[in-house]
Amino acid sequence: MNTKVDIIIVGSGIAGCTLAWQWLLQGKSVMMIADGKKGSSAVAAGVYNPTILKRFTSVWKAVDQLEVLNDFYPRIEALLDAAFLHPTDILRRFHDEREIKTWKKKAVKEDLNGFMSEDTFAYENPAIHAPFDYGKVSGTGWVDTSSYMELTIDYLQSISSYRSEDFDFMELRHYVDHVVYKESIADRIIFAEGFQMLSNPFFNNLPLEGNKGEVFTIKVPDLQLDYIIKSSVFLMPFTDDLFWVGATYNRDDVTDAPTLEAKEFLTSRLERFLKLPYEIVEHKYGIRPTTKDRRPFVGAHKEFKNYMVFNGMGSRAVLMAPWAAQQLFDSIYKDHPLDSEIDIQRFNEL
Ligand SMILES: Cc1cc2nc3c(=O)[nH]c(=O)nc-3n(C[C@H](O)[C@H](O)[C@H](O)COP(=O)(O)OP(=O)(O)OC[C@H]3O[C@@H](n4cnc5c(N)ncnc54)[C@H](O)[C@@H]3O)c2cc1C
Repeated sequence: MNTKVDIIIVGSGIAGCTLAWQWLLQGKSVMMIADGKKGSSAVAAGVYNPTILKRFTSVWKAVDQLEVLNDFYPRIEALLDAAFLHPTDILRRFHDEREIKTWKKKAVKEDLNGFMSEDTFAYENPAIHAPFDYGKVSGTGWVDTSSYMELTIDYLQSISSYRSEDFDFMELRHYVDHVVYKESIADRIIFAEGFQMLSNPFFNNLPLEGNKGEVFTIKVPDLQLDYIIKSSVFLMPFTDDLFWVGATYNRDDVTDAPTLEAKEFLTSRLERFLKLPYEIVEHKYGIRPTTKDRRPFVGAHKEFKNYMVFNGMGSRAVLMAPWAAQQLFDSIYKDHPLDSEIDIQRFNEL
């Protein structure tokens, strides 16, 4: 029997789940097709942060993205009676006096003063070595991405809107005002395949780059932590005595395995400030779908207008995806033009 929906979504990572909710919350219907494989979203710590704490600058469209995030995830939590959004301040651990000077200069800038406190912050925690104290960032936190995705898939299954399979491009048909995939008919199909987009015959011309990231989950029985600590790696409270440590960035290696190099990097950086013994419970890795211009890939195929892409979330899917999904939704149903910086029309000469 044929089913008619507003959109078919391919992929169940942060991008695909966020698209699904953007449509569902506005009363539209979806069908998600996903292979259930663990993509980059399955290893993401889920941190959202409107600032870049290496250079002390703000993220592109930080205020707009955060505003959407703070409305979006709580609405889903309320609907599912769940809690996966965890607002938590970040403490940027200072390495020397020079950094403090730069921080104080940057913290008063208009785009940063809503997030960065100008004064240094002394957080007394005997487990953390921080001789130069910290800079405090607010408006930050983390989303338990595994819960978010699991709950989303459960919900979609409960309304018969999820199919577990590897998408078969041979079964896809494009018509003037709709698409057909097997027994599903939809106005549009949106591909949210993460790094696997490189195998998509309609969008593999877009310049997506893989950036491998590795993280640990560690167990530290005696550590009490009220903040996310950001030094050259971050340390984030997860549950009970489990913490996240991450992350590495590697553009050259997209192999499907954890590396010793990353393990050595994460342990050496962590041990510069964590004074307690710890056990590595899990060493995970994933390939971030990144783009050269650091803007996502959103919009319609230049020839097959009902085929769309939603990808390139880089290292910021949790913050970026709700805003970008709203942009796409509004461009389709409210006639608002897509932000030109995310629209894939920018590659149309390729
Ligand atoms: C170590 C690490 C730490 C990170 N930490 C953070 C963080 O703290 N905060 C943050 O915001 N971001 C973080 N990221 C980045 C974030 O993980 C990515 O931006 C995000 O996961 C991209 O999501 P996605 O849905 O586009 O892709 P994916 O997560 O890869 O999901 C795509 C899904 O689609 C499926 N799929 C693809 N093609 C098909 C097909 N043809 N048929 C069926 N199914 C298909 C895949 O199997 C996969 O399940 C981190 C990434 C890494 C690697």
